[in-house]
Amino acid sequence: MNFIDPHVHMISRTTDDYEVMRKAGVVAVIEPAFWTGQPRTEAGTFKDYFSSIMGWERFRASQFGIRHYCTIGLNSKESNNEALAEQVMELLPLFAMKEGVVAIGEIGYDDQTEAEDKYFRLQIELAKEIEFPIMIHTPHRDKKRGTTRSMDVLEEHGMDPTMVVIDHNNEETVREVLDRGYWAAFTIYPNTKMGNERMVEIVKEYGTDRIIINSAADWGVSDPLAVPKTAALMLERGLTEQDVRMTCYQNALTAYGQNGEMKESDWEGGFDVDQNQLFEGNRILRGQTPKTGKSTNIIDN
Ligand SMILES: [Zn+2]
Repeated sequence: MNFIDPHVHMISRTTDDYEVMRKAGVVAVIEPAFWTGQPRTEAGTFKDYFSSIMGWERFRASQFGIRHYCTIGLNSKESNNEALAEQVMELLPLFAMKEGVVAIGEIGYDDQTEAEDKYFRLQIELAKEIEFPIMIHTPHRDKKRGTTRSMDVLEEHGMDPTMVVIDHNNEETVREVLDRGYWAAFTIYPNTKMGNERMVEIVKEYGTDRIIINSAADWGVSDPLAVPKTAALMLERGLTEQDVRMTCYQNALTAYGQNGEMKESDWEGGFDVDQNQLFEGNRILRGQTPKTGKSTNIIDN
């Protein structure tokens, strides 16, 4: 079975993760631009980060048979450094138009400050102008209010809900998000918050329409196999293969395929992988024998 993990920060994951993900059936990933655990102090760091998630990381994924896409945006946390935020805003239109960028994101609220609100609105306008989908990061604190407020603001700006994925939902937010016409994404965190047991119950209750599952794996405690593991549990608990296909593959493809950058033909039937390849003079191997072949069996080669 093929899976898409539409929210995973591979820049902070290892080559082992890529190998197990490919083995488990992950064919494509989306890497949202976010903060990096520690506040950045220069616009240049953002510039290099954006270049890195659409350059080296995209290459690294391809070397393990996985297609890699990204989103570009100024995250809510770092919107609070307004002098820096102004400079980052100038970079966004340039980077958003590059190959493999499927949305503006993760944007939205963290502490729901005035500055966060300002840069959230500016980025909604950018997405509208370039006709890109938006990935919304909903706050971990005061989630329900922050989620409602995010949708209110999107509507104030006339954003079409079918172009917006509201991420990090839970049982308290899902109903309103679906009722208002948005895609509802869920992050499966190991042992806490939105575990995969709870996810199965949500799919049983709400069905598979516009529901998307992701790992949001990053540098913190997280599981890059959250999507295939939840899929396995869904089947075990009596949900169908079609349910799994919708929530762990098709809905992400439909939502994030809307600007034409992510297409099933990018991976369908396998693409050629050659680990002899270099990216700006650098390779992923450290003396190992390079593997070559189709992406569909590169890991078993
Ligand atoms: Zn994230």
